[in-house]
Amino acid sequence: MSFSHLGLAEPLVRALEAKGYSEPTPIQRDSIPLLLEGKDLLGIAQTGTGKTAAFVLPSIQRLSEANKRVLPTHCRMLVLAPTRELASQIAESARGYGQFSKMSVATVFGGTSIAKNRNDVARGVDILVATPGRLIDVIEQGFLNLSMLEILVLDEADQMLDLGFIHALKKIVRMLPRKRQSLFFSATMPPSIRQLADQFLTDPATVSV
Ligand code: AMP
Repeated sequence: MSFSHLGLAEPLVRALEAKGYSEPTPIQRDSIPLLLEGKDLLGIAQTGTGKTAAFVLPSIQRLSEANKRVLPTHCRMLVLAPTRELASQIAESARGYGQFSKMSVATVFGGTSIAKNRNDVARGVDILVATPGRLIDVIEQGFLNLSMLEILVLDEADQMLDLGFIHALKKIVRMLPRKRQSLFFSATMPPSIRQLADQFLTDPATVSV
């Protein structure tokens, strides 16, 4: 099984070749075709399984195919992560996977000035990776608008709840258009997480690795 058999286009396959990945991991094999079709996804997977590529690759392809231009202070895809470290790792991966796809990537998290965040999103970005608290600050100050979002990814949802981000997440989701693709990843699936997933997702496919 190769990446092009999963339906990924040439600029993405080329980026994977540049990274030296010869075949998809199980979560990539199971998720990528469903995500390319536009399905919502509930992914039960730990870090280290290749889940970042599983959600970034098909999302870049769908953003490229939709061929819309991002407007100033808007983003097309939002990835929410519980920590700065994870957010910056995801952004770095997205830059690598998207290197031949002309996707802009930015991060918004605490520890840098709000002025820098403002500057980074001012022209609009295709893929924004953020932690929930700082994202809300940036939105409430009028520097970012989520009304044209096409794809939402919630990564490490169980960690998000442990860190007390539940209200922030619900607030963010209320700002999003109803018509969107949503992806939800968690290493564990206790009832509280399942309930949250039900609120985020519409008729999702489930992939567990
Ligand atoms: P993740 O679970 O997304 O944190 O990825 C874990 C690690 O696996 C990262 O260092 C990726 O660069 C790497 N990786 C992702 N997909 C593949 C693949 N298909 N083949 C080899 N390595 C991969």
